[in-house]
Amino acid sequence: MLSIETIKFKCDRCGKCCKHRGDIALTPMDVFQISKYLGCSCEETVRKYTRLSHRHGNFPQVVIQGEGKQSTCIFYDRRIGCKIYPVRPAQCYMFPLVPLTASTDPNPKFGIRECYSKSMTEPVPVQEWIRRSSDRYESEKEIFHWYMEILSGLERFSEDNPNSKDQIKKLLYCEYDLSKDMEEQIKQNLSKKIFYV
Ligand code: SF4
Ligand code: SF4
Repeated sequence: MLSIETIKFKCDRCGKCCKHRGDIALTPMDVFQISKYLGCSCEETVRKYTRLSHRHGNFPQVVIQGEGKQSTCIFYDRRIGCKIYPVRPAQCYMFPLVPLTASTDPNPKFGIRECYSKSMTEPVPVQEWIRRSSDRYESEKEIFHWYMEILSGLERFSEDNPNSKDQIKKLLYCEYDLSKDMEEQIKQNLSKKIFYV
């Protein structure tokens, strides 16, 4: 896939990229923001809308559930489109951009996947296009990079870890007070010894 510098379309919200997508990995920030938006606890969001991915070995990575024959994202509604559009995960608001370099790279490169938009615009630099796609991008940039950096360590998570997947999953995605500061709580939870034995 070739790296691109600009992008020239506006998402029509056709929903085609919400199908065959049982692979959308959520960060703790995604779970926090989605829960706040839906008015439910993080635990409820994880229980009702996610499943564990099998691609990450022993690490409890949660992904959004897909439904039906086409594995349509559980948040997709045929009439209104994405039910969590203002807080949709990074993987969704960046689509059809695909990162070609590590998420921790200060000058990341992106390639492009197939998109069905019919609304073409003037070419916009990629970073600006992402910034316009979601309010979350700018406000969560710092914590996102921080999380990606430590995630590479966490993904080496070994079978020898005496703490169960469930305990880790709970601390990583569920134990948050939605009325308090998100970043502080995520950093606190992820600094706990349970992850690093
Ligand atoms: S979260 Fe929203 S944008 Fe992302 S795949 Fe699901 S319905 Fe589509
Ligand atoms: S396929 Fe393209 S136009 Fe359709 S919802 Fe996805 S990003 Fe938007």
